[in-house]
Amino acid sequence: MPFLEFTNVDYSYVGGDDEVIRALRSVSFSVERGEFVALVGCNGSGKSTLARLCNGLIIPDAGTVTVDGASTAERASLFDIRKKIGIVFQNPDNQMVTTIVEDDVAFGPENLGLPREEIRERVDWALSAVGMTEYKNSGPFRLSGGQKQRIAIAGVLAIKPQLMILDEATGMLDPSGRREVLDVVKKLNRIDGMSVIMITHFMEEAAEADRIIVLEHGQKKADGGKELFTTPEVFTCAGLDLPLPVRVAEKLREVGVDLGCPITSEELVGAVIKSVKGGAA
Ligand code: ADP
Repeated sequence: MPFLEFTNVDYSYVGGDDEVIRALRSVSFSVERGEFVALVGCNGSGKSTLARLCNGLIIPDAGTVTVDGASTAERASLFDIRKKIGIVFQNPDNQMVTTIVEDDVAFGPENLGLPREEIRERVDWALSAVGMTEYKNSGPFRLSGGQKQRIAIAGVLAIKPQLMILDEATGMLDPSGRREVLDVVKKLNRIDGMSVIMITHFMEEAAEADRIIVLEHGQKKADGGKELFTTPEVFTCAGLDLPLPVRVAEKLREVGVDLGCPITSEELVGAVIKSVKGGAA
């Protein structure tokens, strides 16, 4: 049984003038335990709607969303589902609720009604997992954007979710802040086996996931591994840029230099070194 499963999910909003906005149309996919999935698509393609459907903040109009086999439409399952799926949102400032970092991280477990000792242990563990222990007594507003987002991640981690969804959580950060957050999330996925859905419009970030789901106008356009980059039109037709390494390799191919299909910066550097050394030999 997959950990998260969408089956033919429809969701609409009623906008001004009673206009019906079909945000998601017949979307089906599943996420297994331990997977790292990137969800990409243009503005308005339905990504945030999909995120909110995952933990029952909204319920499908048609179709089903199940978490560990339990439907989000069953009210009795919601408390359990929200312990299993945590969401980190875009703006770190909106996610801070107290003036001391460790109190902020304790907020989630306190709401679960856990004993004091366990809250203490979870807060220490979560701060250490995101590399922010030394800031535990700081005021969140003194931190950089990347650090604040790491605290927001710690706050979600302290609930010990099995799946973390990052909804454009790096969108407001500079490149070094984005790298900090991505490194923390990758570590939690690799070492602790936490499943991740990373919603992003930075294709370089998406390229680091095991699997990519592309949404276009509320429909699933593609769902696959890095081989999707061998058919770039999947992304460009959905209005998305290709990762820089893919574009560089494409340009070089046009002038007769074949680097294969590097997707991340590391792969591009490796392919260039191999090509230069091969040429020199
Ligand atoms: P994305 O996260 O990909 O930008 P969203 O899920 O936020 O997409 O939005 C999908 C569609 O639903 C868009 O057309 C958007 O304008 C519309 N929408 C989102 N939230 C609301 C809302 N609260 N009321 C009305 N329409 C909404």
